[in-house]
Amino acid sequence: MSETGELAELAKRRGFFFPSNEAYGGTAGFYTYGPEGAALKRNVEDVWRDLFVRKLGNMELEAPTIMPEAVFEASGHLDGFDDMIIECSECGATHRADHLVEDAVPDIEDAEALGTEQVAGLVAEHGIECPSCGAALADDTVEEFNLMFGTNIGPGSGSPGYLRPETAQGIFVEFPRLKEYARNTLPFGVAQIGRAYRNEISPRRALVRVREFTQAELEHFIDPEHDEPPIERVEDVEIPLYSAKDQNDDEGTVENHTVGEALDTDIVESEWVAYYLGRSMEFYERIGLDMDRFRYRQHLAGERAHYAADCWDAETELGGNWIEVTGFAYRSDYDLSKHGEYSDEPFTIFRQYDEPKTVERAVVDPDMSYLGPEFGSQAGAIAEELESLAGRDRSAFDGDSVSVAVDGETYTVPVEKTGFGVEEQTESGEHITPHVVEPSFGVGRIVYSVLIHTHGTDTVDGETRSFLGLPAELAPTTVAVVPLMTKDGLDDRAREIADRLREEGFEVAYDDTGNIGRRYRRQDEVGTPYCVTIDYETQEDDTVTVRERDSTEQRRVEIEKLPSVIRELLEGATLSTSGSPTT
Ligand code: ATP
Repeated sequence: MSETGELAELAKRRGFFFPSNEAYGGTAGFYTYGPEGAALKRNVEDVWRDLFVRKLGNMELEAPTIMPEAVFEASGHLDGFDDMIIECSECGATHRADHLVEDAVPDIEDAEALGTEQVAGLVAEHGIECPSCGAALADDTVEEFNLMFGTNIGPGSGSPGYLRPETAQGIFVEFPRLKEYARNTLPFGVAQIGRAYRNEISPRRALVRVREFTQAELEHFIDPEHDEPPIERVEDVEIPLYSAKDQNDDEGTVENHTVGEALDTDIVESEWVAYYLGRSMEFYERIGLDMDRFRYRQHLAGERAHYAADCWDAETELGGNWIEVTGFAYRSDYDLSKHGEYSDEPFTIFRQYDEPKTVERAVVDPDMSYLGPEFGSQAGAIAEELESLAGRDRSAFDGDSVSVAVDGETYTVPVEKTGFGVEEQTESGEHITPHVVEPSFGVGRIVYSVLIHTHGTDTVDGETRSFLGLPAELAPTTVAVVPLMTKDGLDDRAREIADRLREEGFEVAYDDTGNIGRRYRRQDEVGTPYCVTIDYETQEDDTVTVRERDSTEQRRVEIEKLPSVIRELLEGATLSTSGSPTT
């Protein structure tokens, strides 16, 4: 069985994740995290929160998942959040046309950048068939399909809304308030972990492409002229880079560079993006990804959004395919400018000058005793237009008269009646639109990658064992307490110890079914790093056996010392080095 097939089987059997709503025939693209998976996912999120919120001193918020249409008009999702769809005229199945082309044509890695017409041409040229029924798709049209789930807010159909396709918008729309919490000072970062929804045309590869998923996004708001990342913090961190140039070159491969080298040689253009590529290595390593199956891939020219200056994806290799797990983008002022344009709120921040500046300002002071009788009800609007024109183009006032347009009509005013003049003013700063640097993590794809990368088999006592080598802080259960027998008081004692360890703050499972070897295997399979066994010796000398998942080594430990020994083990000691075990 393939590694993804094996994992899917394990995930379902042991309660990591499984397709939702199977009692009603299932719904493609929706997965439920079972007890083990929900705990693992929460632990991954906690590591993310520790690194990207707590350690970086950022804020975290929790916004609604349904947002009004106006938000997505401004963000561009309403018009442009599309994928290419092709519907088989034979069986009615729908498919991602760009993915069909990428799968069928070896040289094409990013068909989305080609546009619908060219993709339709490639479908015909390569005789691509419907994956569901095998019919030729050559005559079927390729169209854009918007991925947002629509809904109505409140009864009736008056107020359209959408399930957010990314958590980021919930941060951007609150910028006017968030900047106050940041005391109107850049840079500051705002993070959010939450659900996002995309009506994917063909959900596939388990948690990789689903219709409801969790994102962990950080929006770092910066002043592009003055703010620099603390690059010295990551300068020497090695990052595996698969640059656009290497992707276009037949001989090109992933190359390891330090963050400093990557910047010096312009492989990564943006210092901020490089900073996050470096910082994020700590996250991927800490959650146990196999770093030989990990890379940062630069977006090819056609892949990048027009406003994004430098984009890289973190990718993991799963079952022979490279999958994007995180997108890193320098998004410039695109998001805040758009919301500033569409809403009445200011999406800017005041940048204080080091020293106040004296500037020349063109001003007007229209003679309303002339404008009123001359232009009647339009006089006020004409005065406003004159003021705005003076700010934009003072040369318009060079002649004897000046013209402005109001409601499609042109009005001409003698310059002497405008009160035009140039004044010196002292300014202490200016309003700027911050730029945004965004690392955007897909939690489900990361959980899935961790499961695949840590899943292994080996031989223990002549038997094949399947295990998850999860880092201890990610494991759903930290300690499993197992009595050798369910008689002679061993089970009562084991329950007591389990409760005591729970009180001490550990994630504890109690397991008394099946023979002891089977119980160890069961725990190995869900990644439990330690088992504690209660046997007849426990009754005599108050010691238990602690067994380590990875080495399968065992050691007797006094019950009194058990919490501190486990704590040491979690901090990196091994059974042979942890404090004063009794042999
Ligand atoms: P893709 O090209 O694979 O559709 P994307 O580039 O549209 O992904 P982003 O918009 O950058 O993805 O979203 C950020 C992250 O959210 C991705 O790196 C990925 O981990 C996750 N993500 C996006 N779409 C899905 C999905 N349908 N199912 C699960 N995770 C997803």
